[in-house]
Amino acid sequence: MSTVKIIDKEFAISIPEERILAEVDRLAKQISQDFEGKNPLFLGVLNGSFMFAADLFRRITIPAEISFVKLASYEGTASTGVIKEVIGLSENITGRPIIIVEDIVDTGCTMRKLIENLGTRSPESIHVCTLLLKPEKLKVALDVEYVALEIPNDFIVGYGLDYDGYGRNLRDIYTVVE
Ligand code: 5GP
Ligand code: MG
Repeated sequence: MSTVKIIDKEFAISIPEERILAEVDRLAKQISQDFEGKNPLFLGVLNGSFMFAADLFRRITIPAEISFVKLASYEGTASTGVIKEVIGLSENITGRPIIIVEDIVDTGCTMRKLIENLGTRSPESIHVCTLLLKPEKLKVALDVEYVALEIPNDFIVGYGLDYDGYGRNLRDIYTVVE
């Protein structure tokens, strides 16, 4: 089996590129159908989603725009927990359907916060499109409409996702070998 070492951990291929792209294709077709005539704005969440967002967006066959945001985390008070600030959103999203493009939904907390934040800017609707979902770890109520692949509860890298900054350039998705 093809394995790779990143920093101190060994990773093995778990989802080959062809499989990923087949699922990206499926999502792009579905989204193109669902948003026909609706002029959606895709919103990629950096850094992890850049590769997925590029592959997805080039397969979208309806008029649409894409932009990217970054989420900065900082510790809030005990009551607010970790606060995620949305950086880089210059578009006016009022009245538009927004499709958030995320690399992975784990507990769902990040997505929850982002949806709350975007919700204050009066979009027409907010939809979530994620490359990966770990259903076992989801701990907040979240409607993830578009999921390329569901995966078990293991740490993965590749296809944009990193381990301490490295591994994003791997074409396949790799799972850590315990
Ligand atoms: P959540 O708020 O849903 O728990 O966390 C989502 C974020 O955690 C993702 O955007 C990603 O940055 C990170 N994350 C969660 N699981 C993994 C994983 O298996 N591999 C990598 N590289 N990042 C992960
Ligand atoms: Mg992410």
